[in-house]
Amino acid sequence: MALILPPSFADRMRTLLYNEFEAFSNTLLQQKSATAVRLNPNKPIQQGIFETAQPVPWYALGRLLENRPVFAADPLWHCGAYYVQEPSSMFVAEAVKQCCNLEKPATALDMCAAPGGKTTLLAATLHPESLLIANEVIKTRIPALLENVQKWGAANIWVTNNDPEDFKHFGNFFDLVLTDAPCSGEGLFRKNPEAVNEWSEQTVQLCSARQRRILAHAAGLVKPGGILLYSTCTFAPEENEQNVAWISDNADFTPLRLQIQPQWGITETISKTDKGQTVYGYRFYPHKTPGEGFFIACLRKKSVVPSAENNVLPASGKKTLHQPFSPVGKHEVAMLGKWLTNPTEFNFFTKNQTDVFAVPAAHAHLLPAFAARLIVKSAGIEMGTIKGKDFIPAPALALSNTVPPPVPKLQLTPEQATAYLKKENFELPYPPGLMGWALVVYQHLPLGWVKIMPGRWNNYYPLEWRQRK
Ligand code: SAM
Repeated sequence: MALILPPSFADRMRTLLYNEFEAFSNTLLQQKSATAVRLNPNKPIQQGIFETAQPVPWYALGRLLENRPVFAADPLWHCGAYYVQEPSSMFVAEAVKQCCNLEKPATALDMCAAPGGKTTLLAATLHPESLLIANEVIKTRIPALLENVQKWGAANIWVTNNDPEDFKHFGNFFDLVLTDAPCSGEGLFRKNPEAVNEWSEQTVQLCSARQRRILAHAAGLVKPGGILLYSTCTFAPEENEQNVAWISDNADFTPLRLQIQPQWGITETISKTDKGQTVYGYRFYPHKTPGEGFFIACLRKKSVVPSAENNVLPASGKKTLHQPFSPVGKHEVAMLGKWLTNPTEFNFFTKNQTDVFAVPAAHAHLLPAFAARLIVKSAGIEMGTIKGKDFIPAPALALSNTVPPPVPKLQLTPEQATAYLKKENFELPYPPGLMGWALVVYQHLPLGWVKIMPGRWNNYYPLEWRQRK
């Protein structure tokens, strides 16, 4: 579908951009979208199709591609070796670098996380012992978030499925809260021309009101001295600078100024709040930066007076709503430990009595309190399922980058890897006499599990991952 800009949108953009409007609209109407990927620092690859790609100016592990390959046909994409992401979104990492102390583990919340682009970016940026909560309110968006988090392989991410309001009992627990808010999506019109049909000035106002509600909850969760990052993929000032000004005045935040290099082409906006604070916003326009439209602002919570509530979850006065996680027994700990190379770094929990999760020991004491207040879909590495005396390893365990299990590994060719991912029949290359669970790997990166039995083997790649591609 050809892109036709709604006249009132064009008028609004003309007001924002003055004499740059022609360049902006020509870019949107005549130039194709940029394609970019972000390499996983924990799953290094021979760069192959990315070798000649230019780096994303503000993110060293980002790569700008000339063309859009069929990512789903590349086994490395299924291994979690890279994530396909808007280059502008990768600027979140630069903002975090400039505002947060990355030398220390942090408590971080990605409030609007699905499908997980910024969650996995945060995981690659924050101190590896940080606790990162990836929350998504819409239940149907949880499977994609889980899949992307599991493929990325970080052990320190917990996925929750809650409304921002449900976090209200957490006090100011977090060092960093990212609110990548649902928005009117003006910045994505070129990529998704049909989105213009849903756009109206009224949509902008509705989105702005919804963003304020989300922001108000997010702001309350930030520690004094902690950071609130706010981003959208729209150009509307009502959804961007005006919301940043509103939350700064109403929740006691100071907007921060970032260092941007002139060659990056990022547009800094400087405005004032009602109370006279200076607001700094960072806009990504497609005629000046590679990628689609994006906005980000960074705010620091005022008052560095230590709060008694910092890092301590308040006790829940009410009867708990959920509590599906419980520590596993000693016998199971011994059995599960055999599946990890570094078992002492984890505590093990079962969810619904059968599904086992390995949670980094540093965060394990927090899990009961989280599970009592929130719908925790996964915590740490989903290891698998205990069935009587048997243990069935989960796909997430295969893909986890911190704990490659000490089991046999079978190297696949590109053709074999494709057949494995499609769950088609192929000749599995295993040595005579090998029995039981094995990992299939592609270019040394695990793809998933197989189980070898006398005369046959079973493919344990999840059906739902295969079908969606
Ligand atoms: N951060 C994601 C990423 O980088 O992959 C993209 C997030 S998208 C811009 C906004 C998210 O907010 C969507 O996943 C959407 O489901 C969620 N959302 C929608 N309505 C919401 C609400 N009322 N409160 C919180 N989140 C909401």
